Amino acid sequence: MAVFAPPTPIEAPPEPVTEPQPERRKAPEGPIKVVHAFWLAGMSCDGCSISATGATNPSVEDLLTGSIAGLPTVILHHPVLAVENGEEFIRPFELAAEGKLDAPYVCVYEGSIADERIAAATGGYFSAMGDQVLEEGTRPFPTATRLKQMSEGAAAVIAIGTCATWGGIPAAAGNVTGAMSVMDFLGSDYRSALGLPVINIPGCAPVGDNFTETVAAVLLFLQGMGPLPEFDELGRPAWLFSETVHRGCTRAGYYEEGVFAEDYGDKECLVEVGCWGPVVNCNIVSRGAQSHMGGCMRAGGPCIGCTMPGFPDKFSPFYKAPPGSFLSSNASRTYGAGIRRLRALSNHALSREVRWDALNKGVVPSGWGEIEKPNAFDKTVHFFYEKLQFSGSRRPGREAGRYWPTDPPPRHRGMKVPRDVSTTGGEEGAWHGEGGVPPPDGSGS
Ligand code: SF4
Ligand code: SF4
Repeated sequence: MAVFAPPTPIEAPPEPVTEPQPERRKAPEGPIKVVHAFWLAGMSCDGCSISATGATNPSVEDLLTGSIAGLPTVILHHPVLAVENGEEFIRPFELAAEGKLDAPYVCVYEGSIADERIAAATGGYFSAMGDQVLEEGTRPFPTATRLKQMSEGAAAVIAIGTCATWGGIPAAAGNVTGAMSVMDFLGSDYRSALGLPVINIPGCAPVGDNFTETVAAVLLFLQGMGPLPEFDELGRPAWLFSETVHRGCTRAGYYEEGVFAEDYGDKECLVEVGCWGPVVNCNIVSRGAQSHMGGCMRAGGPCIGCTMPGFPDKFSPFYKAPPGSFLSSNASRTYGAGIRRLRALSNHALSREVRWDALNKGVVPSGWGEIEKPNAFDKTVHFFYEKLQFSGSRRPGREAGRYWPTDPPPRHRGMKVPRDVSTTGGEEGAWHGEGGVPPPDGSGS
């Protein structure tokens, strides 16, 4: 097994960056037609780019074509998606860093930020885009340095994905690159031209719609057409990350009834095979991974906390149940056994049409299979259940003998229509269908 030693402190190489901008530039005021989005990547797997381009509400195309009412058109400078290359691609980054861009811009950073001094000590680099000319020659320009230069003039800096928001996998135990988050890199005093700290949209990979929706909300604000979106104390869009994933989980009913998966692929709650959902802020199950489809537990995977600052170290080993689940899952297993039986009883009663209870004594006229009739216990429980259900209110629905004769109903048009045998008012001989609606052949009118 490989053992990683922490990086030895090294002497910092000559600073290969241009000086930060002397004064913070202001974002233009008033309605704007165009906003540039500069995409920078650090220690990244490109998964954030994949999920962002898969977003649908809104889609990247919606943002790029300016097809959302009120939003400016976004000009995206993305190293993978751009058709430009070389100097033509890099020049707008430089103009932004120099404060010479003719439109406001946001910086989007994907991946964590490595300590480039470690690589530079041996003449290398970790993450770079474009070149810089130094006295000793041309060297790749670290994306971290570009971010530093561009961040002060940016209307907003958006960290996308867990590597950029908290450090993520590159910053996990054995971190030999000194990888850190954008927040750590820019510091707690950082404010964009609009006065915003770093905006964080975590997830590994994040939900693409979480990113595009946040961009749209920030652009509306920038446009003066919407309020500043609400962010929580960690800079996450509050409306997207305030709930735990467990609360919206498609398997939460199993948890409540104390039914747990024993293996991956089982359909029940996954807490005992390692799901951390009850303590993780994430909306993937309620929103879907893409186009409202998928999402970890929907697809059978337990939550390993990938949106959380403590990920991955604080959630490992992934194959073990979280210690806290011992208490809660055993509690729900205990009361869930009783609750489950009572619910099954109600479900059985509610799966019978009123007519079947009234006329058929609970026999279901199904040709598909034999359905158990309610026994004495079922009837007694349901009698008291309905007493409670309708106490203080009128019992709706139909009663035996009032809406139907005790004879079988007519089977087709043209047969004699049943007559009301009610003794509780109603015109004698009048037909009462459901809700008092006359029969379709008009014979009751
Ligand atoms: S699978 Fe996880 S998130 Fe879903 S109900 Fe179980 S513990 Fe909660
Ligand atoms: S459910 Fe858990 S593992 Fe899945 S995306 Fe959300 S935080 Fe990450």
